[in-house]
Amino acid sequence: MLSKLAGEMMDLFLPREPQCAHCAGPMHSDFFHKEYRGAGLCGNCLRQLEEIIPPYCKRCGKSTQRQVAQCPNCESLRDSFTLVRAVGYHRGLLQEMLHQYKFVGKRSLGPSLGRIMATELIGHRDYSNAAALIPIPLHGEKLVQRGFNQAEELALELGKNLGIPVVNAIKREQNTAIQSKLSKRERLDNVRDAFTVEPSEVKKLQGKDVILIDDVVTTGATCHYAARELLSVGVSKVNVFALALGVNN
Ligand SMILES: [Zn+2]
Ligand SMILES: [Zn+2]
Repeated sequence: MLSKLAGEMMDLFLPREPQCAHCAGPMHSDFFHKEYRGAGLCGNCLRQLEEIIPPYCKRCGKSTQRQVAQCPNCESLRDSFTLVRAVGYHRGLLQEMLHQYKFVGKRSLGPSLGRIMATELIGHRDYSNAAALIPIPLHGEKLVQRGFNQAEELALELGKNLGIPVVNAIKREQNTAIQSKLSKRERLDNVRDAFTVEPSEVKKLQGKDVILIDDVVTTGATCHYAARELLSVGVSKVNVFALALGVNN
């Protein structure tokens, strides 16, 4: 009895073995996944991360039959972003973590997801000139429901790791319907003209390269219209970086 009590007392004072931010398992196997060190995820979880693998469209990132510079999906998204890249596909571990983070209240996963994104972006040649990270804003109604904009939180974590400022330069003008419930054609119409650039941020972005940040990019329509607004006020180049690419479209 006494020894059990002593053991419990010791537990209070001894440092706890760090736990995986996702599965709460032990962290020791993290050693083999140095590339994602600091993400707070164990080796078992990290092994399940599915990276984007060729063939894909070099512009929008969509899976294709062979590597192409532009794909049919890009046709409807012309004159906007230069590239879309992401950590992985919106399925398996990434999908599960995002779900927990956005809908189940596991806010502690935000830094892990942001650091995974940072690891991917560090040293990415096409993204190295960026002067600002610009999160895609949430619909006002959804922001009230959820209490936070996941794209902004991911951008803040990413910015902290990369030393790039986060600028909330884009405003959503109308309360657009929820994208995932619409067909591709409807999605394009739904986000059309839904964005404006915050006038007070225009000057600092003119002539600069920026990175649009979102959690999941599906058709790319949202980023397309946001990028067009940024280019129209004099931003020189817009790349998109997301945690995950949608797989069902
Ligand atoms: Zn784990
Ligand atoms: Zn494409």
